Amino acid sequence: MMTPEEMEEKKKMVLSMCVCSSCPSWVACDEKGGFCFPTIGKSKCITEEKGCICKNCPVYEKMDLKHMYFCTKGSEKEQAGM
Ligand code: SF4
Ligand code: SF4
Repeated sequence: MMTPEEMEEKKKMVLSMCVCSSCPSWVACDEKGGFCFPTIGKSKCITEEKGCICKNCPVYEKMDLKHMYFCTKGSEKEQAGM
């Protein structure tokens, strides 16, 4: 289990590496990406799946992610049913 401080640090790391803003599905609003992360999860702005570039993101390999379209389908944990 991670402490809230560790979660916050990890979230910052994810947001600093996230490539969502270069994705064809990206919709610019007040969000910063990081939708794969459990405390972020789905986007409130992105509704149409026009391609997902998560597999090109350094976070994908680093966090051993398996899913896609975190913005519309929810975080890795959510999609894994956890
Ligand atoms: S894996 Fe996808 S949602 Fe997660 S940080 Fe990278 S681009 Fe963003
Ligand atoms: S989660 Fe995937 S589909 Fe959604 S904005 Fe990020 S890269 Fe694009």
